[in-house]
Amino acid sequence: MGRLPRWEYHAHSNFSDGSASLVDCIAAARAKGIERLIFTEHTEPELTGGPGWFGRYVESISTLRWAVADEMEVVIGLEVPLVDFSGRLMAAPEMLSGAEFILGAVHALPGHGWNLEGIDPALAIDLEYRGLLTLIDHPMVDAIAHPGGVCNRYVTPFPMELFEAVVRHATACGKAIELNPAYHQPMAPYLEICRRHGVLLSPGSNAHHPHEIGLAWEVLHPLKPSPV
Ligand SMILES: [Zn+2]
Ligand SMILES: [Zn+2]
Repeated sequence: MGRLPRWEYHAHSNFSDGSASLVDCIAAARAKGIERLIFTEHTEPELTGGPGWFGRYVESISTLRWAVADEMEVVIGLEVPLVDFSGRLMAAPEMLSGAEFILGAVHALPGHGWNLEGIDPALAIDLEYRGLLTLIDHPMVDAIAHPGGVCNRYVTPFPMELFEAVVRHATACGKAIELNPAYHQPMAPYLEICRRHGVLLSPGSNAHHPHEIGLAWEVLHPLKPSPV
């Protein structure tokens, strides 16, 4: 694997729950030399701007991106949660077809919901793991958001052998795996597994403020593979 390009594949503007406008996010990314910026707005209805937001979002990026096209590619993406193990996604069909990049996410655990208080750790791991595999199998999903991140952050460490199994399946299916410093700490062992399998990488910062754009790249690019 060569140089990691300055990519940001996970950023939220105020079209969902980010703090800043698209204009301010693009300006911050440009100042950091980001070469490709993918906005990944949430699709959970409570996190977006109400009816019609997606059309306004697409139109805004389509207009804004021409001004920076010489330096940076700006992509219309969505972070779409999995609803159930049949592969249902929480987004209207016109959103899934209108977005240029779908970052599939396990958020609320399928079959369990948001409230993780008192959940059996083994059950949480199993639900997140099966959810990640289901997302990889979904034909519209391009990359998998923060694999293991729900368990890591809220329940119990997600086993590295299962992270590796997710990476293996993504490699086989040609899907990208997000490495996200907000959920994967320390980052080196995760990157090592991704490199070993040659999976596509999706460097995502989960940026909700302009100053967080580029964080994943800043963490990832100095890491060298360990000697074998
Ligand atoms: Zn997420
Ligand atoms: Zn996010």
